[in-house]
Amino acid sequence: MNREELSLLVEAIAFAAHKHKDQRRKDEAASPYINHPLALADVLVNEGGVTDLNSIVAAVLHDTIEDTETTPEEIDARFGATVCAIVEEVTDDKTLGRQACKQAQIDKAHRLSRPARAVKLADKICNLRDVADNPPTDWTLARRQAYFDWAKRVIDGLRGEYPELEAVFDAVYRQRPA
Ligand code: ZN
Repeated sequence: MNREELSLLVEAIAFAAHKHKDQRRKDEAASPYINHPLALADVLVNEGGVTDLNSIVAAVLHDTIEDTETTPEEIDARFGATVCAIVEEVTDDKTLGRQACKQAQIDKAHRLSRPARAVKLADKICNLRDVADNPPTDWTLARRQAYFDWAKRVIDGLRGEYPELEAVFDAVYRQRPA
């Protein structure tokens, strides 16, 4: 990685840390939110063997538009059109209700670009790990199981591009709470 690429990655980490600074995950410990996008980058690079910088930067930024005040224009200006397009692809349309949002992820999966598939795989891997090991405190067993099954339906729609990440997902899916 050259200096310019390293600089972009570190800027994305600092940007996401700033944007998510007041947010916490829903687990018992209320972990800092930034742990989640950083976990995605870790999965992509160290478990999936992904080396595409735009995919890794997009993973770090993937929840900024959805969960903070960040606009696509801001991402575009600082990180470029390619990164912005990937982040927008994995951003839920929050004008839909929760159920419609979940269905939309299933319906859209097969249309995602290759880099967006990598981010989506890493996101689902990290979320399943959290639901298996550190679930939100108010989630019943049935809700945790339903989350696993929904995540699998999303991932089943985008298979074929990332065998390593898909194998990681399948291994995590086998931890489905019972
Ligand atoms: Zn996420």
